[in-house]
Amino acid sequence: MNLSEIQQLDGAYMAETFSRFPVAIERGKGATLYDTDGKRYIDFGAGIAVNIFGANDERWKKAVIGQLDKIQHVSNLYYCEPQVRLAELLCDKSGAKRVFFANSGAEANECALKAARKYSFQKYGEGRAKIVSLKNSFHGRTLFTLTATGQDAFHKYFAPFAAEVDYSAPNMAEMRKVADVHTCAVIIECVQGESGVEALDKEFVKELRSYCTEKDILLICDEVQSGNGRTGKYFAYEHYGITPDIVTTAKGLGGGLPLVRVCFSIRRSIRCKRAITGSDVRRQSRVLCRGDQYRRTAGRSVFAGSSGKERISQGEAQRTAERRKGFGIGMMIGLEIDRDAKEIAQKCLEKGLLVLTAHSKVRIVPPLNITKTEIDEGLMILREVLSL
Ligand SMILES: *Cc1c(COP(=O)(O)O)cnc(C)c1O
Repeated sequence: MNLSEIQQLDGAYMAETFSRFPVAIERGKGATLYDTDGKRYIDFGAGIAVNIFGANDERWKKAVIGQLDKIQHVSNLYYCEPQVRLAELLCDKSGAKRVFFANSGAEANECALKAARKYSFQKYGEGRAKIVSLKNSFHGRTLFTLTATGQDAFHKYFAPFAAEVDYSAPNMAEMRKVADVHTCAVIIECVQGESGVEALDKEFVKELRSYCTEKDILLICDEVQSGNGRTGKYFAYEHYGITPDIVTTAKGLGGGLPLVRVCFSIRRSIRCKRAITGSDVRRQSRVLCRGDQYRRTAGRSVFAGSSGKERISQGEAQRTAERRKGFGIGMMIGLEIDRDAKEIAQKCLEKGLLVLTAHSKVRIVPPLNITKTEIDEGLMILREVLSL
């Protein structure tokens, strides 16, 4: 099908929820993609920070196909080796005690919020169900996580919302007022993705951690976008020297398959009730066990620049970002520009570069194994567009 045929079917049958760029991506290799006309693009978006190995990665494919050759799904009624191996691996990485598998980032957050309410109810009884999130946060599109998303734009049309969610600016003066005796959990993104790649202030996060501990409020870190090596550490909270009570992650964890989303608890043993959501992770979680081996190698070379001259180092990414008035950590970069970000994204696309936007910023979250050559090519296009 060519673009206009695809657009026609999309217009006729798809729900009108997203405005799309006039391009149909068909295939790719690494961070180089092609549309249905054969036009080539450098990919600075990786889906939306999802395809961390880029397109069509050989080792990732081998792992996925290897599992598909065996079985695609095992229900919660039976044990499954790939699932428990992945759980062990995630606990090893994070110091978490237990893992719960779901199917999307929103579900992982939903589970985390429910777990926090349950923890509080069992310990203190009623009257302590309030969830506090940050203004400008993004936590998902289910009704509960949408409520916890601190942006009015997402709330239009969908009231009434789950009760007892409140929002605070990322400063302790306001937080102390909002997160009161009725509060069971505070949920944060250490690096806010959707609202412009804003890394939270280190002191604020540290103080929030102590405050939550003091009040026995659970601190939930939403690492759906910032986790899995994106920022140069496995989780972004590691840059802050804190340990959350619950961590959620998704996006990059499946490398592009919507198969594993997790919520896990650290420090306290909060037992999430199993089998609330079908844990389809069993299907292919072995993929990730193998994938992790690869991720570690790729991650090291990308961020440390130690092996392979063609990989970019974290320092280099950082310097590049700073030069362009960028904010963010590692491969999660938001560029502050004085022009309309959507217009920049459109112009980049025309010249063969895919970038994302986040509020007023241009957001760059490429595959973690993007090559130096691809980065240089992408940056050249970006430079060209910005100086138009
Ligand atoms: C994308 C995202 C979510 C939602 O994840 P889905 O898998 O799309 O449900 C939640 N939190 C953050 C920080 C995200 O970036």
